[in-house]
Amino acid sequence: MTGTREEELSANVKAARERIQAACVAAGRPEGSVTLIGITKTFPISDVRALAALGVRDLGENREQELKVKAPDCQDVTWHFVGQLQSNKARSVVRNASVVHSVDRSSLVTALSRAAVDEGRVLRCLLQVSLAEYGREEVATGMSRGGVAPADVPALAAEVAAADGLELGGVMAVAPLGSDPDEAFAGLEAVASRLRSEHPGADWISAGMSGDLEAAIRRGATHVRLGRALLGTRTPLG
Ligand SMILES: *Cc1c(COP(=O)(O)O)cnc(C)c1O
Repeated sequence: MTGTREEELSANVKAARERIQAACVAAGRPEGSVTLIGITKTFPISDVRALAALGVRDLGENREQELKVKAPDCQDVTWHFVGQLQSNKARSVVRNASVVHSVDRSSLVTALSRAAVDEGRVLRCLLQVSLAEYGREEVATGMSRGGVAPADVPALAAEVAAADGLELGGVMAVAPLGSDPDEAFAGLEAVASRLRSEHPGADWISAGMSGDLEAAIRRGATHVRLGRALLGTRTPLG
Protein backbone atom coordinates (compact mmCIF):
# COMPACT_ATOMS: atom_id res chain seq x y z
CA MET A 1 0.00 0.00 0.00
CA THR A 2 1.30 3.42 -0.88
CA GLY A 3 0.95 6.46 1.34
CA THR A 4 -0.91 9.64 0.58
CA ARG A 5 0.55 12.54 -1.39
CA GLU A 6 0.76 14.51 1.88
CA GLU A 7 2.90 11.77 3.43
CA GLU A 8 5.13 11.70 0.39
CA LEU A 9 5.61 15.47 0.44
CA SER A 10 6.21 15.45 4.17
CA ALA A 11 8.99 12.87 3.76
CA ASN A 12 10.48 14.84 0.85
CA VAL A 13 10.50 18.12 2.80
CA LYS A 14 12.13 16.41 5.75
CA ALA A 15 14.80 14.82 3.54
CA ALA A 16 15.47 18.12 1.74
CA ARG A 17 15.84 19.99 5.04
CA GLU A 18 18.26 17.31 6.23
CA ARG A 19 20.32 17.66 3.03
CA ILE A 20 20.48 21.44 3.48
CA GLN A 21 21.41 21.02 7.13
CA ALA A 22 24.16 18.50 6.36
CA ALA A 23 25.54 20.78 3.62
CA CYS A 24 25.62 23.72 6.07
CA VAL A 25 27.49 21.64 8.63
CA ALA A 26 29.97 20.37 6.01
CA ALA A 27 30.58 23.94 4.84
CA GLY A 28 31.04 25.21 8.39
CA ARG A 29 28.05 27.49 8.02
CA PRO A 30 25.48 28.21 10.73
CA GLU A 31 22.30 26.16 10.85
CA GLY A 32 19.46 28.00 9.23
CA SER A 33 21.66 30.22 7.06
CA VAL A 34 19.99 28.82 3.94
CA THR A 35 16.35 29.39 2.98
CA LEU A 36 14.50 26.67 1.11
CA ILE A 37 12.30 27.88 -1.76
CA GLY A 38 9.90 25.25 -3.10
CA ILE A 39 9.54 25.52 -6.88
CA THR A 40 6.03 24.32 -7.63
CA LYS A 41 5.92 24.73 -11.42
CA THR A 42 3.70 22.20 -13.21
CA PHE A 43 2.31 20.87 -9.89
CA PRO A 44 -1.29 21.43 -8.76
CA ILE A 45 -2.49 23.93 -6.19
CA SER A 46 -3.16 21.05 -3.76
CA ASP A 47 0.62 20.44 -3.67
CA VAL A 48 1.24 24.17 -3.17
CA ARG A 49 -1.09 24.19 -0.15
CA ALA A 50 0.42 20.98 1.20
CA LEU A 51 3.96 22.42 1.07
CA ALA A 52 2.77 25.60 2.81
CA ALA A 53 1.10 23.46 5.49
CA LEU A 54 4.39 21.59 5.95
CA GLY A 55 6.11 24.88 6.76
CA VAL A 56 7.66 25.72 3.39
CA ARG A 57 7.06 29.46 3.66
CA ASP A 58 8.76 30.42 0.38
CA LEU A 59 7.43 29.18 -2.94
CA GLY A 60 8.38 29.96 -6.52
CA GLU A 61 7.16 29.70 -10.09
CA ASN A 62 8.90 30.23 -13.42
CA ARG A 63 5.90 31.15 -15.58
CA GLU A 64 3.69 34.18 -15.12
CA GLN A 65 0.61 32.21 -16.19
CA GLU A 66 1.05 29.72 -13.35
CA LEU A 67 2.08 32.30 -10.76
CA LYS A 68 -1.05 34.37 -11.28
CA VAL A 69 -3.28 31.35 -10.71
CA LYS A 70 -1.48 29.85 -7.72
CA ALA A 71 -0.35 32.89 -5.71
CA PRO A 72 -3.85 34.33 -5.06
CA ASP A 73 -4.88 30.87 -3.87
CA CYS A 74 -2.08 30.60 -1.31
CA GLN A 75 -1.40 34.03 0.15
CA ASP A 76 0.22 33.14 3.46
CA VAL A 77 3.63 32.42 1.89
CA THR A 78 6.27 34.55 0.17
CA TRP A 79 6.09 34.08 -3.61
CA HIS A 80 9.21 34.20 -5.76
CA PHE A 81 9.38 34.49 -9.55
CA VAL A 82 12.37 32.64 -11.02
CA GLY A 83 11.72 32.42 -14.78
CA GLN A 84 12.39 34.44 -17.88
CA LEU A 85 10.13 37.47 -17.82
CA GLN A 86 8.74 39.49 -20.69
CA SER A 87 8.27 43.17 -19.85
CA ASN A 88 4.55 43.02 -20.67
CA LYS A 89 4.10 40.44 -17.88
CA ALA A 90 5.89 42.59 -15.29
CA ARG A 91 2.69 43.99 -13.81
CA SER A 92 1.15 40.58 -13.20
CA VAL A 93 4.36 39.35 -11.56
CA VAL A 94 4.59 42.44 -9.34
CA ARG A 95 1.01 41.81 -8.16
CA ASN A 96 1.70 38.20 -7.30
CA ALA A 97 5.33 37.89 -6.17
CA SER A 98 7.49 39.67 -3.60
CA VAL A 99 10.82 38.71 -5.15
CA VAL A 100 11.94 38.39 -8.78
CA HIS A 101 15.15 36.34 -9.20
CA SER A 102 15.54 36.82 -12.94
CA VAL A 103 16.24 40.51 -13.58
CA ASP A 104 18.63 40.47 -16.53
CA ARG A 105 18.18 43.69 -18.54
CA SER A 106 17.48 47.38 -18.37
CA SER A 107 14.10 47.31 -20.08
CA LEU A 108 12.84 44.85 -17.45
CA VAL A 109 14.07 47.10 -14.63
CA THR A 110 12.03 49.94 -16.12
CA ALA A 111 8.89 47.80 -16.48
CA LEU A 112 9.14 46.33 -12.98
CA SER A 113 9.77 49.73 -11.42
CA ARG A 114 6.77 51.30 -13.12
CA ALA A 115 4.52 48.40 -12.10
CA ALA A 116 5.78 48.39 -8.50
CA VAL A 117 5.15 52.13 -8.13
CA ASP A 118 1.65 51.82 -9.63
CA GLU A 119 0.82 48.91 -7.34
CA GLY A 120 2.27 50.65 -4.30
CA ARG A 121 4.65 47.77 -3.62
CA VAL A 122 8.35 47.28 -3.07
CA LEU A 123 9.74 44.43 -5.14
CA ARG A 124 12.97 42.69 -4.17
CA CYS A 125 15.07 42.09 -7.29
CA LEU A 126 17.92 39.64 -7.80
CA LEU A 127 20.14 39.95 -10.86
CA GLN A 128 20.31 36.72 -12.78
CA VAL A 129 23.97 36.19 -13.63
CA SER A 130 25.04 34.14 -16.64
CA LEU A 131 27.53 31.42 -15.76
CA ALA A 132 27.80 30.34 -19.42
CA GLU A 133 31.59 30.69 -19.32
CA TYR A 134 31.69 27.64 -17.02
CA GLY A 135 29.58 25.43 -19.29
CA ARG A 136 30.90 23.27 -22.08
CA GLU A 137 28.06 23.78 -24.47
CA GLU A 138 24.96 25.83 -24.98
CA VAL A 139 22.04 23.47 -24.55
CA ALA A 140 18.47 24.64 -24.89
CA THR A 141 16.34 23.45 -21.96
CA GLY A 142 13.09 24.50 -20.39
CA MET A 143 15.03 26.14 -17.60
CA SER A 144 16.20 29.67 -17.99
CA ARG A 145 19.96 29.70 -18.24
CA GLY A 146 20.15 33.27 -19.46
CA GLY A 147 21.29 36.17 -17.37
CA VAL A 148 23.50 39.22 -17.40
CA ALA A 149 27.22 38.74 -18.05
CA PRO A 150 29.30 39.14 -14.86
CA ALA A 151 31.02 42.22 -16.31
CA ASP A 152 27.65 43.95 -16.76
CA VAL A 153 26.41 43.31 -13.21
CA PRO A 154 27.61 46.63 -11.70
CA ALA A 155 25.76 48.76 -14.25
CA LEU A 156 22.50 46.81 -13.99
CA ALA A 157 22.79 46.81 -10.19
CA ALA A 158 23.09 50.59 -10.17
CA GLU A 159 19.91 50.84 -12.25
CA VAL A 160 17.93 48.62 -9.88
CA ALA A 161 19.29 50.44 -6.82
CA ALA A 162 18.21 53.78 -8.28
CA ALA A 163 14.75 52.61 -9.44
CA ASP A 164 11.63 53.57 -7.49
CA GLY A 165 9.73 50.62 -6.08
CA LEU A 166 12.64 48.20 -6.40
CA GLU A 167 15.09 46.92 -3.82
CA LEU A 168 18.37 45.32 -4.94
CA GLY A 169 18.49 41.94 -3.20
CA GLY A 170 21.51 40.12 -4.64
CA VAL A 171 22.15 37.55 -7.37
CA MET A 172 20.71 34.36 -8.80
CA ALA A 173 22.17 31.80 -11.17
CA VAL A 174 21.66 28.36 -12.66
CA ALA A 175 24.77 26.22 -13.16
CA PRO A 176 25.11 25.48 -16.89
CA LEU A 177 24.82 21.92 -18.14
CA GLY A 178 28.22 20.31 -18.44
CA SER A 179 29.76 22.62 -15.84
CA ASP A 180 31.41 21.72 -12.57
CA PRO A 181 28.86 23.33 -10.22
CA ASP A 182 31.56 24.12 -7.64
CA GLU A 183 33.47 26.15 -10.23
CA ALA A 184 30.36 27.84 -11.59
CA PHE A 185 29.05 28.74 -8.11
CA ALA A 186 32.50 29.95 -7.04
CA GLY A 187 32.30 32.35 -9.98
CA LEU A 188 28.89 33.50 -8.77
CA GLU A 189 30.23 33.94 -5.24
CA ALA A 190 32.92 36.30 -6.57
CA VAL A 191 30.30 38.33 -8.46
CA ALA A 192 28.13 38.46 -5.32
CA SER A 193 30.96 39.63 -3.14
CA ARG A 194 31.86 42.46 -5.53
CA LEU A 195 28.19 43.47 -5.64
CA ARG A 196 27.95 43.47 -1.82
CA SER A 197 30.96 45.75 -1.52
CA GLU A 198 28.97 48.45 -3.37
CA HIS A 199 25.48 47.51 -2.16
CA PRO A 200 25.72 46.01 1.35
CA GLY A 201 22.01 45.14 1.43
CA ALA A 202 22.28 43.00 -1.69
CA ASP A 203 23.30 39.93 0.27
CA TRP A 204 21.23 37.10 -1.21
CA ILE A 205 22.77 34.39 -3.35
CA SER A 206 20.01 32.30 -4.95
CA ALA A 207 21.82 29.21 -6.22
CA GLY A 208 21.39 25.48 -6.09
CA MET A 209 18.60 23.21 -7.28
CA SER A 210 17.73 19.59 -6.51
CA GLY A 211 20.87 18.27 -8.23
CA ASP A 212 23.50 20.70 -6.99
CA LEU A 213 22.42 22.27 -3.71
CA GLU A 214 25.49 20.98 -1.82
CA ALA A 215 27.90 22.75 -4.20
CA ALA A 216 25.82 25.93 -3.97
CA ILE A 217 25.87 25.88 -0.17
CA ARG A 218 29.64 25.34 -0.20
CA ARG A 219 29.82 28.52 -2.31
CA GLY A 220 27.70 30.73 -0.12
CA ALA A 221 24.12 30.22 -1.36
CA THR A 222 21.59 31.86 0.95
CA HIS A 223 18.57 30.52 -0.97
CA VAL A 224 18.20 27.16 -2.71
CA ARG A 225 15.39 26.53 -5.21
CA LEU A 226 14.09 22.98 -5.06
CA GLY A 227 11.49 21.46 -7.35
CA ARG A 228 12.00 17.74 -7.98
CA ALA A 229 13.52 17.04 -4.56
CA LEU A 230 10.24 18.15 -2.97
CA LEU A 231 7.61 17.25 -5.53
CA GLY A 232 9.05 14.49 -7.69
CA THR A 233 9.47 14.21 -11.45
CA ARG A 234 7.80 16.92 -13.51
CA THR A 235 5.60 16.18 -16.51
CA PRO A 236 6.47 18.82 -19.10
CA LEU A 237 3.71 21.35 -19.79
CA GLY A 238 2.42 21.40 -23.34
C1 LIG B 1 12.63 24.45 -12.18
C2 LIG B 1 13.59 25.39 -11.58
C3 LIG B 1 14.23 25.09 -10.37
C4 LIG B 1 14.03 23.77 -9.63
O1 LIG B 1 14.72 22.76 -10.30
P1 LIG B 1 14.79 21.26 -9.72
O2 LIG B 1 15.89 20.64 -10.49
O3 LIG B 1 13.46 20.65 -9.97
O4 LIG B 1 15.08 21.36 -8.27
C5 LIG B 1 15.09 26.04 -9.85
N1 LIG B 1 15.32 27.21 -10.47
C6 LIG B 1 14.73 27.55 -11.63
C7 LIG B 1 15.04 28.85 -12.26
C8 LIG B 1 13.85 26.65 -12.22
O5 LIG B 1 13.27 26.98 -13.40
